[in-house]
Amino acid sequence: MIPAVNFHLWEPCNMRCKFCFATFQDVKHSILPKGHLPKEQALEVVLQLAEIGFEKITFAGGEPTLCPWLPDLIATAKQAGLTTMIVTNGSKLTDSFLQDNKQHLDWIAISVDSLNIETNLATGRAFSSKTALATEHYFSLADKVKQHGYGLKVNTVVNRYNFSESMSEFIRHAKPVRWKVLQALPIIGQNDLKIEDLKISAEQFQFFLDTHADISDCTSIVPESNEQMLGSYAMVDPAGRFYDNAEGKHNYSRPILEIGARLAIQQANYDFDKFLDRGGIYRWKRQKLIPKRITISGEVASGKSTVGKLLAEKLDYEFVSIGNRTREFAANKGLSIVQFQKECLGNPETDKQIDSLFSNECNSKEELIIDYRLGFNFIKDAFHVYLKVSDETAIERVKKAHRPNETHLTVAIRNETFRNQFLNAYNLDYTNPNNYDLVIDVDDLGSAEQIVEFIMANISN
Ligand code: SF4
Repeated sequence: MIPAVNFHLWEPCNMRCKFCFATFQDVKHSILPKGHLPKEQALEVVLQLAEIGFEKITFAGGEPTLCPWLPDLIATAKQAGLTTMIVTNGSKLTDSFLQDNKQHLDWIAISVDSLNIETNLATGRAFSSKTALATEHYFSLADKVKQHGYGLKVNTVVNRYNFSESMSEFIRHAKPVRWKVLQALPIIGQNDLKIEDLKISAEQFQFFLDTHADISDCTSIVPESNEQMLGSYAMVDPAGRFYDNAEGKHNYSRPILEIGARLAIQQANYDFDKFLDRGGIYRWKRQKLIPKRITISGEVASGKSTVGKLLAEKLDYEFVSIGNRTREFAANKGLSIVQFQKECLGNPETDKQIDSLFSNECNSKEELIIDYRLGFNFIKDAFHVYLKVSDETAIERVKKAHRPNETHLTVAIRNETFRNQFLNAYNLDYTNPNNYDLVIDVDDLGSAEQIVEFIMANISN
């Protein structure tokens, strides 16, 4: 059985692409005037798809992000053990959508046919076919999708208007895990009245692929000719029926909710070998995309805790700090932090005790941002970040933070003290860049927000 299914849950769309092969006007005008099932029925369809053994579900439309219960469908699919994906035109992919669906949504495929507004207007990839999305929107959308930790795919329909264009700059920037390049496909009853103007020959399709042959180093290009697309997708329509396009038009099964998914799928004509040939199987089971623990180490006044707190907020993780734990530890012993540090100097075992308590606590939890210089050594299954800062910038920062006792010298001394302390206790040099997954020169990036963006982009690649 084909292990991946596309659930076209929703007929409405805010764009009018002339090549769209999922318009479902036939469904809407025959049995489903609203263009979608009620929420509860759609949820039941998802459960049945999981029940009969699909491994991955792609929510498509129409435009699925217009559906108010899309998050419920995604969550239900994920809880039923499926890998989840949406295909979207990107117009409604808001920050809150990206933030809110992280837990259950694995992949986002954005449909981008051209970075040229005129081309998108000509093909109808535009709001009500009149207003196309700005070029910058596509660039920033790709960034955001990755920053939030989703697997990014890009889908492109090659047609008469874009086959001679280059999308290399965008693809090099977006670096999608997969770039699916589809030949505009005529489907009777879906787009046959509009697509004539957009059809291209096999040679024109190949021309587009040749234009982009040199970017296979930054993405996996997956071309699909018309022949490869026919009969190679397991699909469910907005009325909850399996359908296939093997003969160039939609062939619908009886509704899943009427006869059950197991019987309904037998009424569709899917070619498993064609599915394999078009590269339908890939590593879609991504590990948790964002590391469950991220440690932040760094020099004095590198902004560790500010960056850590901001990152925690962004990811909705908990922020913990060895500094805070040390203060609590000192307070429990009835000592101020200064008195406690003096005591530690004479007795390294106390420091080791704190490291042990703190690291055990962190390793027993997930979704943590950990402000901890020795995190690279003690925290398991984590992504380790090191913030490096020049003396000049460090001094500027401590001045801004109104720490009048800090000077060029005191900052240097404190850095050296930490280094020696850890060398003596564990023979570990926390300033060695080889200990980290990511070393950031704070002077180059500037603000804490920019550093956080940089970390986000790196952890989700
Ligand atoms: S955005 Fe997608 S669903 Fe909407 S018209 Fe275009 S191809 Fe069809």
